[in-house]
Amino acid sequence: MITFHSTRSTTDSLTAKQAIRKGIADDGGLFVSDSLGQTHVDLANIASKSYQEIALDVLGALLPDYTADELKACIDEAYGSQWSDPAITPLKPLGDDFVLELFNGPTSAFKDVALQILPRFMARTTPAGGDPDEKIMILTATSGDTGKAALAGFADAAGTGITVFYPEGKVSQVQELQMTTQTGSNVKVAAVRGNFDDAQSAVKRIFGDRELADRLAADSHVVLSSANSINVGRLVPQVVYYFSAYAQLLQQQIINTGDEVEFVVPTGNFGDILAGYYAKLLGLPVKHLVVASDRNNVLFDFLTTGSYNRNRPFFQTISPSMDILISSNLERMLYYFAEKDTRLISMLMNDLKNYGCYEVPEELLAKIRHVFGCGWANEDQVRQAIADCWKKNRYVIDPHTACGYFVMQQMPADPLTPRVLLSTASPYKFPRVVNESLGLDATGTDFECMDVLAEATGTKAPAALRGLETADVRFSDVIGIDEMEDFVAGTAEAL
Ligand SMILES: *Cc1c(COP(=O)(O)O)cnc(C)c1O
Repeated sequence: MITFHSTRSTTDSLTAKQAIRKGIADDGGLFVSDSLGQTHVDLANIASKSYQEIALDVLGALLPDYTADELKACIDEAYGSQWSDPAITPLKPLGDDFVLELFNGPTSAFKDVALQILPRFMARTTPAGGDPDEKIMILTATSGDTGKAALAGFADAAGTGITVFYPEGKVSQVQELQMTTQTGSNVKVAAVRGNFDDAQSAVKRIFGDRELADRLAADSHVVLSSANSINVGRLVPQVVYYFSAYAQLLQQQIINTGDEVEFVVPTGNFGDILAGYYAKLLGLPVKHLVVASDRNNVLFDFLTTGSYNRNRPFFQTISPSMDILISSNLERMLYYFAEKDTRLISMLMNDLKNYGCYEVPEELLAKIRHVFGCGWANEDQVRQAIADCWKKNRYVIDPHTACGYFVMQQMPADPLTPRVLLSTASPYKFPRVVNESLGLDATGTDFECMDVLAEATGTKAPAALRGLETADVRFSDVIGIDEMEDFVAGTAEAL
């Protein structure tokens, strides 16, 4: 049986189902499995497989205590007609390179890939504490896209509730409306005075509060869990699209089985790109994974110097979902590269907590750099990248994908290794910035911007986004960081 334990200790051992239900380890670490990489996903017939069939192979290797029937049911529910493209994550040519569209799900951001299936995974777990009435409440801090994708995934899901906090004034009009208009009897949304890291840190504190946990369990039959990419059930579905990209390259006869591929990944919390590393450990021929950051380039500095330092100015940029100074999932990558040394990880994370920084040994950095490349784009470069990509390829990208596009253009191309840029959001989620970049009118509302963009580029806004203009706003609370705990307790009571 494959089991999971914390990146910071091996004392507790959990099944995949338990790890998914729990979200984060008691010591603050992230759940990892030491068997990762021992079995490989068979690439033999992958070119003829559907996304759903590939998902069954990949998830079966990563979550073996789910039966094949359970996984199949989860996959069929999660990757059905709510996706606007039958390939789920279609691969398209982009000049000499390729773009993997991850945004054709119900909320137009790549987080749908994971958050459409996570509630289905959770529904197939059982209460750990012996309380048959136990309900799970998902608690999430969002820099913009996670919140809506989680709300859409968990709305009205049996046995669950969801509370989402987003930083006030730091998400786009479309992103905010996506969250505040969410329907469902088990959902709650509040804006928080602070930035994403403040909100995320407060959520982590709430998770670590034993006294609150006991109170919620006793009074409301509620246990808290996470839908942030620290949840292993959030991470593993993302491994699937790396295999799907490979299958599509094979289908399009760009590569032969065994050829290496390079991925360029717009990154914030390090979840998307970590999934690519998991794919590599599962046998996918990945040559390099390139981290593309925005102006909050803490990962770029780490990968070039070995020193991770969050003590730096925080920039609110036009790619808000990547405005992150603490990349939580880096902890999992460090765990695997450090030969599963929980003591080292524990020490580094203590340094991060106490001093806001840590430094990894030189040999460790060298090993990491062998696999991970890096680059970053400032906001002018992001705008230019959007314009350049449209001019050269007649393809519109959003400001997150544009960070990756810019970084890819800076890299020397190797004609023997195809490059795949992961596209993480629909440009229609950020129509104002896209219009400004393309020299189009950006003076009206986000919705007017959408119409201008559609007209000028011959593309079409996703109906769910365009329809937000007339949707009812259900949530308007704005609270302080210190009020978040009470808000959570209140929502739990009402569940
Ligand atoms: C969340 C997000 C990212 C960053 O993904 P991570 O898994 O946090 O690295 C990039 N782009 C968009 C649009 C996102 O929503």
